[in-house]
Amino acid sequence: MTHHAYADRRSGSRTHADGRPPAPPPLPVAARRGPAGRRLLTGLFLVGLVASVLPWWLDTPAGSLTDATATTTAAGQITGLLAGYLLLVQVLMMSRLPVLERVVGGERIAAWHRDLGVTLLVAVLAHTAFILVGYGGLTGRSPWDQAGVMLREYQDLVSAFAAAGLLVLVGLTSVRAVRRALPYELWHATHLAGYAVLLLGFAHQFSNGTQLFRPGPVRTGWIVCYGLVVAALVWGRLVGPLTVNLRHRLRVADVVAESPDTVSIYLTGVRLDRLALLGGQFFRWRFLTRGCWWQSHPFSVSAAANGRWLRLTVKVVGAYTGDLRDLEPGVRVWAVGPSGTFTAAHRVRDRALLIAGGSGITPLRAMLEELPPGAALIYRARTPADVLLHRELDWLAQARGVRIWYVVGSRNDPGPRQVMSPDGLRRLVPDVARRDVYLCGPPGLVEQSRRLLRRIGVPRRQIHVGTFEL
Ligand SMILES: Cc1cc2nc3c(=O)[nH]c(=O)nc-3n(C[C@H](O)[C@H](O)[C@H](O)COP(=O)(O)OP(=O)(O)OC[C@H]3O[C@@H](n4cnc5c(N)ncnc54)[C@H](O)[C@@H]3O)c2cc1C
Repeated sequence: MTHHAYADRRSGSRTHADGRPPAPPPLPVAARRGPAGRRLLTGLFLVGLVASVLPWWLDTPAGSLTDATATTTAAGQITGLLAGYLLLVQVLMMSRLPVLERVVGGERIAAWHRDLGVTLLVAVLAHTAFILVGYGGLTGRSPWDQAGVMLREYQDLVSAFAAAGLLVLVGLTSVRAVRRALPYELWHATHLAGYAVLLLGFAHQFSNGTQLFRPGPVRTGWIVCYGLVVAALVWGRLVGPLTVNLRHRLRVADVVAESPDTVSIYLTGVRLDRLALLGGQFFRWRFLTRGCWWQSHPFSVSAAANGRWLRLTVKVVGAYTGDLRDLEPGVRVWAVGPSGTFTAAHRVRDRALLIAGGSGITPLRAMLEELPPGAALIYRARTPADVLLHRELDWLAQARGVRIWYVVGSRNDPGPRQVMSPDGLRRLVPDVARRDVYLCGPPGLVEQSRRLLRRIGVPRRQIHVGTFEL
């Protein structure tokens, strides 16, 4: 590994930044991305939800739900249609389609995916239960016997039951406590089974689904939706990343120690000036060495786009990040992104306050180059050695008119306690309620800060959270 205190890459030089004035930072990015795109997508989702039940509505004559059996069967059909729709939306959200990543952002998509996953699981289980009870009632069988008959007599239902079983497995491994206990790669591999659910659950909708059985516009529309989602998946996961990586051909240029447990990885490539990247966004990086190629991990860029190099700053927390310290210059890199709405372009006010904890400084450091002058940064760190990118931040303080407070110590020390109190925060940043506030750091600090900001009257829409969890 090459050790530099701070290599002045801004001017393209590989020497230390020993007083030589670096190139001026880029102009601030315009605030142009409000919540309108997200609202539109939420509206489209709700329209789709209603539309997914229409086939049942159109197919069911008024007054036909005369007894409990008919009502239960109808509930089974409705939950089946809803489950089919929700499954498509779930897969679409994981397609990494650039427009979704740009408008909603990878972190928020992951949160929506988590929340909707629970609804999907409930819909699938309800569909199975209602259908077994409903059809069992029609034929005078118990739900268990009905399940046996269906499995024996309807070929596509075997795969449908397998799909439901897989979905339960995915759901169980997504429970927070279970997920934490599993190695990330095992959890991720189980989660990829979601694609198999799409495949296994496909056929029974058309061979056994009352509303989709007959050829016609409803059936054709449903198949087209499946086709579009698969196309989005192929584009977002395969064609898009292939195009970006062939165009930019990224390689490791250098690995620089920032602290005993943190390194910055500099990457070069071709046509980097054409990369539409904002400070605060992240890529999923795959370093193509023998030990690392099979995993991709998310890291934010820790410097704004400059057309010549990219940089990520990585804290060693486990085996993979440990291996990154030993990357050699020249290693090829496969990157998927950029993703995320934690950027200066998503602000709603003119001025910003940034609150960082530990390695949470990385996206904020990049964003500082793109915020208008007058931003303020509170940087919490446990010890002086945990303060990263110190010299660059001081340089930005001058070049960009950023006010910076380094608040060092444990959360119970008098200094940090004072700063992270309503009076302390108002004293440092009197106009805090009229600023966008960007938070990034350990979950405890982010949650404490979020509560504090709400208490002192910062509106929810002005609070932006960058999480290191997907
Ligand atoms: C949007 C985003 C941006 C991030 N930016 C930075 C950054 O700029 N600098 C930095 O130091 N860290 C960043 N992280 C965190 C970084 O991704 C993890 O610390 C790293 O993946 C841990 O890998 P590990 O195998 O060394 O550690 P492990 O001990 O295996 O993992 C520690 C934790 O990291 C998460 N994690 C592990 N592997 C993955 C994976 N493949 N994909 C997603 N999460 C995973 C899991 O929550 C896990 O519990 C970011 C995370 C996210 C989600």
